[in-house]
Amino acid sequence: MDQYDVLVIGGGNAALCAALEARRHVSRVLMLESAPEHMRGGNTRHTRNIRCAHPAADGFFSGEYSDQEFLDDLVGVTGGPANLQLAMFEIRESRHIPQWMTDNGVSWQQPLAGTLHLGRTNRWFLGGGKALLNTYYRTARRMGIDIRYNASVHDLLFDDGGFKALLEVVSYPG
Ligand SMILES: Cc1cc2nc3c(=O)[nH]c(=O)nc-3n(C[C@H](O)[C@H](O)[C@H](O)COP(=O)(O)OP(=O)(O)OC[C@H]3O[C@@H](n4cnc5c(N)ncnc54)[C@H](O)[C@@H]3O)c2cc1C
Repeated sequence: MDQYDVLVIGGGNAALCAALEARRHVSRVLMLESAPEHMRGGNTRHTRNIRCAHPAADGFFSGEYSDQEFLDDLVGVTGGPANLQLAMFEIRESRHIPQWMTDNGVSWQQPLAGTLHLGRTNRWFLGGGKALLNTYYRTARRMGIDIRYNASVHDLLFDDGGFKALLEVVSYPG
């Protein structure tokens, strides 16, 4: 039976980021993606940009986006974060995201004029979500992360508070 240090369930942005980061700390990482390979990545396929705090304009942001403004926007949209501490942590750390993405192979592009007015707050990855996914999957492969498609996780089993096993249903496309 194959042995792994870290098991990641899913195959979208969250799963890929978790798997890529985990692989830097342990040697055996497995991702279980319920979709077939050509449909991999969930809603991440539809994304185009990422919002992050930053101190000044650069080649891709048109101006500053402070932590406070980010928080104000979050409150404006949601009515207030359920967990302020967690929201502040996410906002503070968001300034490191572009570099992390670049380090994992992502390229960037200028926002298209006349579409969304997010050029100051959001950063566009080159080619959109499908390209982002292809990049992360390529990086994952290069780092030796194992990936199984058509592998849907249906249950997690815990014993004395610790993870024991999972129930995986593998479907074979006809
Ligand atoms: C049209 C559209 C446009 C968007 N644009 C943006 C944008 O520009 N910027 C932005 O930040 N956000 C955007 N979003 C939101 C963004 O798509 C989500 O926040 C993001 O995809 C969440 O990532 P995720 O990995 O949690 O989920 P997903 O990307 O949906 O990935 C979930 C993954 O889990 C797999 N999975 C599900 N159940 C199981 C199971 N039981 N076992 C194994 N695998 C399983 C799925 O197959 C999939 O691969 C957009 C969303 C939509 C719909």
